[in-house]
Amino acid sequence: MIQSLQGIGMTSSRTRERMINRLMEQGIRSNKILDVIRNTPRHIFMDEALASRAYEDTALPIGYNQTISQPYIVAKMTELLLASSGRLEKVLEIGTGCGYQTAILAQLVNHVYSVERIAPLQKKAKDRLWGLKLKNVSYLHSDGGWGWQDHAPYDGILVAAAPPEIPEMLLQQMAVGGVMVIPIGKGSSQQLQRVTRTEGGYEVERLEPVVFVPFLSGRK
Ligand code: SAH
Repeated sequence: MIQSLQGIGMTSSRTRERMINRLMEQGIRSNKILDVIRNTPRHIFMDEALASRAYEDTALPIGYNQTISQPYIVAKMTELLLASSGRLEKVLEIGTGCGYQTAILAQLVNHVYSVERIAPLQKKAKDRLWGLKLKNVSYLHSDGGWGWQDHAPYDGILVAAAPPEIPEMLLQQMAVGGVMVIPIGKGSSQQLQRVTRTEGGYEVERLEPVVFVPFLSGRK
């Protein structure tokens, strides 16, 4: 599949470079993040039928009523997560989905702990990341509302689905100085927020409007 796509130029470096230019126009500044996005093949994270659209700036279906996040959102959330400090040690990701955001994070932090409630999605994601030789990732099939206590505290948490409010367990699993990037809200009125845990409590920055799939409870 990959070879046939390369043959007709859908994955050509020009196509990818256009995506990178768009991200820069949209305000993504970190060269480190742009380089990782440039070098990560987004088309392998989706079905063959949609692979030709992989470098468009849009969310696309990945099955089970879920979507792969749009490149701008992946870049923006990654930038917000990494902005405050140097290299993060441990990052908790809620919503593995197809694994694209996971793959980006794995190249920028020491270890990613990724939780997903839909088992077959996570299985496929795991295979893809293994294929890309990204081995610094651990996976858990669970409701992300519980976080992943075994490896807490985390210096970064990235949530890829929108709950109505910040889940308490995730706040508890943040390290002091840690950062969480999370969409909050119902239906189409959601807002991207960044929470920083301080010695005395939590600071919340309210950022831009976003559209994510809902954060659902329970496992499937
Ligand atoms: N970054 C992912 C986004 C996938 S969409 C990607 O680019 O593919 C969001 C994902 O969050 C979906 O796979 C959905 O099943 C998952 N999700 C929603 N609520 C969840 C919860 N409570 N716990 C774990 N995963 C959840």
